[in-house]
Amino acid sequence: MRFDSGRVCLDLVATFTPHEGIPDGDELRVWLAGAGLVPDRTPLARVGPDWAAAFRALRGDVETLVRAELAGGAAPSASTANALARVNALAAGPPPGLCAVRDQEGHLVRELCGGVECGALLAAVARDAVELLTDPGDLALLRACEGDGCTRVYLDTSRGHRRRWCSSELCGNRERVARHRRRALASGSR
Ligand SMILES: [Zn+2]
Repeated sequence: MRFDSGRVCLDLVATFTPHEGIPDGDELRVWLAGAGLVPDRTPLARVGPDWAAAFRALRGDVETLVRAELAGGAAPSASTANALARVNALAAGPPPGLCAVRDQEGHLVRELCGGVECGALLAAVARDAVELLTDPGDLALLRACEGDGCTRVYLDTSRGHRRRWCSSELCGNRERVARHRRRALASGSR
């Protein structure tokens, strides 16, 4: 799993490719921890397939809205209106409560007060999407990867804002290799 899109809501969208990243609760547990949505050592035993389904549904709605913005945010369709209503409804819920508790050595560590709630975690991601979609500065940095066959979306926070790929090591490198091969073929055919 990768967490390099620049926003937690876009990292969720990225779990769709190249294959289903959150098919059930096990993968969702890894994703929640990797995305930093839950503090370390949070017990996630309750995270099940119904949670994964809810996160996949939110992912589909965020993707619909983000791609509509990438397409220029023109005349909203019924599907974007429905997606927006669902994301707004989730974002209106309370995000996870955070508290500091003493561990066995007496150090203060973070914990979710009241335990992990699916609705609260969905609210945190939906809120991130609302903040992204309503921030003109962030929207101006929204990009779709130019990599061949790559559908990832990310925020271009690079200096100069000329980043073309979701990852320089993956899509960027693939493009450089392809370019090199084309050049080698062209010089060989002369
Ligand atoms: Zn890419």
